[in-house]
Amino acid sequence: MRKIGIVQKIIFTPEEEERFQRSVERQIRRFLWIPVGILILFQIFNILHALIYTEFRLDTVPSRVYFCMYALMLTASLLAVGMLYVFSRPAAGERTGRILRLQYVFVVFLVAWSVAVTLYDQRVSDNISVYLVMVMSAAVLAYLPPGVFLPLYLLSEAFMIAGMPLFSSGQAGDHFGFYVNSAGMTLTSLFVSFYRYYSQRRDFKNRCIIEEKNQEIMEKSAELDFIANHDSLTGLLNRRFLIGFLHRIYQDSRQNQFLLGVYMIDIDNFKNYNDCYGHVMGDECLRRIADALGLQMDTGKLFRYGGEEFLVLKPDVRREDCDRIGEELRRCVEALKIKAADPGKVVTVSIGFSCGEARDEKGWESLLKKADSALYHAKRSGKNQVSGL
Ligand code: GH3
Ligand code: MG
Ligand code: MG
Repeated sequence: MRKIGIVQKIIFTPEEEERFQRSVERQIRRFLWIPVGILILFQIFNILHALIYTEFRLDTVPSRVYFCMYALMLTASLLAVGMLYVFSRPAAGERTGRILRLQYVFVVFLVAWSVAVTLYDQRVSDNISVYLVMVMSAAVLAYLPPGVFLPLYLLSEAFMIAGMPLFSSGQAGDHFGFYVNSAGMTLTSLFVSFYRYYSQRRDFKNRCIIEEKNQEIMEKSAELDFIANHDSLTGLLNRRFLIGFLHRIYQDSRQNQFLLGVYMIDIDNFKNYNDCYGHVMGDECLRRIADALGLQMDTGKLFRYGGEEFLVLKPDVRREDCDRIGEELRRCVEALKIKAADPGKVVTVSIGFSCGEARDEKGWESLLKKADSALYHAKRSGKNQVSGL
């Protein structure tokens, strides 16, 4: 938004302009039929009044002129309602602007019509209320850009000033009050139209900014959520996520009474690996093992539990499958054939697992302890093996 004097020029991107026009058009679709409907009823009343007043003869020139004017307004209003109905369901991919242009044309017609009726009225009555009401209604109800409202109000005022002496019988001085009233209303309408134009665009721009900020916050929050719950080296879920995840496991386990398989996976002789190849290669090795374990997982969840330790949770596991699952995990790492520090050997993992119910923290801790003991057992028994309790 650029500052110009006391107001800011509101600049939309093309996409915002399109969205804004759509929102204005939705508003027009929803509300324009009400004032137009009232106009229709009013013209029907006027036409009936003119007919009854002349006993259906319309035998004077003014009665015929008024009849034509009312009929013209009735036709235009019916047309406007008809077009609103036709445009009420926008076709997919329809360009914006049709409804807006319809509204501009209708408002221009309305004001021109009110100028014509008001001027014609001057023959018999020194009244400009039709003009005042129409101009003010258009200003209050319609969204008009300066390119439309400026020439519209200025031209209508010029016609009023020029036409008044032509239709009125009095002297120029007699019309002074009307000039002042119509000029006052023109200025008020200019202000109202400008205010409406400006505030509608400013509100929309503010909404866009809020939406943009919300989107940024949501993206940042998702990013932070990801960072908080994932390990930056391997991209695996971390222990922080595990704590929250366990509560879901407890609840599920209470409802469905399933067995939870807990696998503790520890890389064998990883210290030697680091010492031999360096930490950068060590990190790469961790990533490759994490990827391999991840690919092996069809169900359950894989966590980086510690430095070179991984944890696999398999909810709803069958006891007889536990050994096989552990063996598959062990083999998938061995199959990577990462050269170990010991010549002729590859990097392997030892796995300890336990299987049981985890309905609460106690149950979980007991399973974890058992898996840890099993891992210890696997290490003591020569590593690169699976042990279960
Ligand atoms: P064991 O077979 O008994 O498990 O022996 P180990 O050498 O794997 O076990 P130990 O716990 O003595 O060593 C673990 C090593 O893992 C120590 C540490 O340098 C390494 N480590 C832990 N986290 C990382 C990491 O993020 N990157 C690298 N490169 N090394 C890590
Ligand atoms: Mg370890
Ligand atoms: Mg180790």
